Amino acid sequence: MSKQIQAIRGMNDCLPQDTPAWQYVEQMLRQTVASYGYSEIRFPIVEMTELFKRSIGEVTDIVEKEMYTFADRNGDSLTLRPEGTACCVRAGNEHGLLYNQEQRLWYTGPMFRHERPQKGRYRQFHQFGLEAFGIASADIDAEVIMLSARLWQQLGLTPYVKLELNSLGSSDARAAYREALVAYLEQHKAQLDEDSLRRMYSNPLRVLDSKNPALAQLLSAAPQLADYLDEDSAAHFGRLKQLLTLAGIEYTVNPRLVRGLDYYNKTVFEWVTTELGAQGTVCAGGRYDGLVEQLGGKATPAVGFALGLERLVLLLQTLNLLPTLAPAAEIYLMALGEQAELAALSVAERLRADMPGARIMQHCGGGNLKKQMKRADKSGAAIGLIIGDDELARGEITVKWLREDKPQQTVLLSELAKTLAFAA
Ligand code: ATP
Ligand code: MG
Repeated sequence: MSKQIQAIRGMNDCLPQDTPAWQYVEQMLRQTVASYGYSEIRFPIVEMTELFKRSIGEVTDIVEKEMYTFADRNGDSLTLRPEGTACCVRAGNEHGLLYNQEQRLWYTGPMFRHERPQKGRYRQFHQFGLEAFGIASADIDAEVIMLSARLWQQLGLTPYVKLELNSLGSSDARAAYREALVAYLEQHKAQLDEDSLRRMYSNPLRVLDSKNPALAQLLSAAPQLADYLDEDSAAHFGRLKQLLTLAGIEYTVNPRLVRGLDYYNKTVFEWVTTELGAQGTVCAGGRYDGLVEQLGGKATPAVGFALGLERLVLLLQTLNLLPTLAPAAEIYLMALGEQAELAALSVAERLRADMPGARIMQHCGGGNLKKQMKRADKSGAAIGLIIGDDELARGEITVKWLREDKPQQTVLLSELAKTLAFAA
């Protein structure tokens, strides 16, 4: 026997027992974003490497060590997309969707990051994201957050997720803060870890994002960005908090929330849960007013978020919040005898035409009644249909209730759809 080829580490198959959960979540997401007037956009999985370097930032986890980058046959450096916002902005600029317009867009699909695989963290994972372009005021930040809150409500997750909020201010405000932060970090150099020392000058805000618990105390005593906010950003943040309070959405201001990507300004937020262990961020986003211009377009304000679908599905599974799984088939059609076997496929086809939406599985491969009934049982169907040569000759079929204690029934083939519709 030849050796089996395995999937790549950190890249998962989604098996039939799990796809209904994904479909359920995807459908809820589509419904929710549609109810706010968002339209879907699709873009390629591979982009020029430069796109992510210029947007996410050179000194970030993603660009420094997580990207799947390779040379195309013609020598171009390409990257499997690690996130969607940069791609969305690239596509929006390229097709003239953004400048001087308002766009509410959503996307979904696989993303790729070369991280250490663990529960809730994979190398191919899936995001659902949305981006609102062309609106600078805080009401759209509030809308985006309220949309996510509505989603939690619809999925039954409201008690299990908490909103954390911060404002990164303008780039000038961040520059002033940066100086104060670097000065503080320099004073405590001896306590910093290797990552933080490296980032202290290149991207000091990212030091705040450190997940090293040994630094927690040091970092919580560090100067806070809130004290350096420019007037405009402070007013924007105040307005957002006011709108969220009016909407009854609870939040915590987390002054250390800086997000792992460089393009954010003003609002940043995360929805976190304590139910998933270390990988507790289910949804994350913020405002990125500078990115469109940074990627070659005309300055356009923007705000958005991305949520991790694996973490969302995992959370729903952990909390037992998924609807019960419907079996693949409702009706299982069996045939006994040569003529009946020949006719069975067309009987099933006619039934599908007469009962749109019904899930009808046709027994294939023959065998005796016992074998066919065993398959019918395994299919999960509630109704078994048996057609034999004699019945076929009389234009009849037997209806058998597989999960109920009800006597079987023989009905005219021409009446079958009506009988079954009545039974359902
Ligand atoms: P984390 O801090 O968990 O690494 P991040 O800040 O890198 O997250 P974003 O780039 O903001 O995450 O992505 C948005 C969301 O996508 C995350 O909140 C998370 O739910 C999900 N996500 C990110 N990376 C992964 C991954 N490797 N595997 C599964 N889901 C992920
Ligand atoms: Mg990450």
